[in-house]
Order: sequence, then structure tokens, then C-alpha cells
Amino acid sequence: MDCIFCKIVAGSIPSKKVFEDDQVFAFHDIDPKAPKHILVIPKKHIASLADAKPEDAGVLGRLLLTVADLAREHGLGKGYRVVISTGPEGGQTVDHLHLHLLGGRQMHWPPG
Ligand code: 5GP
Ligand code: ZN
Repeated sequence: MDCIFCKIVAGSIPSKKVFEDDQVFAFHDIDPKAPKHILVIPKKHIASLADAKPEDAGVLGRLLLTVADLAREHGLGKGYRVVISTGPEGGQTVDHLHLHLLGGRQMHWPPG
């Protein structure tokens, strides 16, 4: 499959990995938008949150818990933001579900 995040999981595209288990992979964003910017993805190809199925409930939970664990490990005790860009109007540019973990600076509302 021609998916850059599947290739990152497979190791055929290099990444700065921060975590991996049987279902979840996490790595530094190549173009960070905050002092800490980590992407947390399912190893299984799910194109977007809109494509998640009831049987994906377990991995969706694992993704969120991984974000919280990584935030703790990376010293984001003062807070952080989790973003899931979904579809063209949601600003999604890579069609493999990913959670952005952003932290290390003050976040603002509304986002762009
Ligand atoms: P989206 O725009 O879909 O919300 O997020 C996609 C993210 O993937 C962007 O923040 C972009 O910088 C990141 N990204 C795109 N290609 C690569 C890559 O090859 N390696 C890494 N580490 N991040 C990537
Ligand atoms: Zn993929």
C-alpha cells in the first residue's frame, strides 16, 4: 500500500521512534509545530477517524492512553493538546489515522 505512515511502521521510511507496541507506533513529527510534537498512530492502516469501525474501539483507546503516557514521559505535566485532523476540511494531509501530541508551549483557542 502506498501509505507513508504504513512505510514508517514497516521501517522502510526512517523515523525518530519514541514508542512501539503490538498495535501502536509513535514518532516525532518531521515538521514540529511545538517544542514537543509526536504522532501516535495505529500499526493497522485506518485511513482516518471517519473510517474507524466498531472493531477498532480497542486500538482507539490504546492510542489515547499512549498519548497520555508519552505526555507524562516527555514532561508535559503542565498540559498539552491532542489533535486528530480528519478529512480535507479537517486539514488531514496523510491518510493514515494519527493523533498529534503537541506540548511545551501555551496553546490557543480557536486553532487554525
Ligand atoms: P495532518 O496534516 O494530516 O494533520 O498531519 C500529518 C503530519 O505528518 C504533519 O504534521 C507532517 O509534518 C507529518 N509528516 C508528514 N510526512 C512525514 C514523514 O515522512 N515523517 C514524519 N515524521 N512526519 C511526517
Ligand atoms: Zn497506512
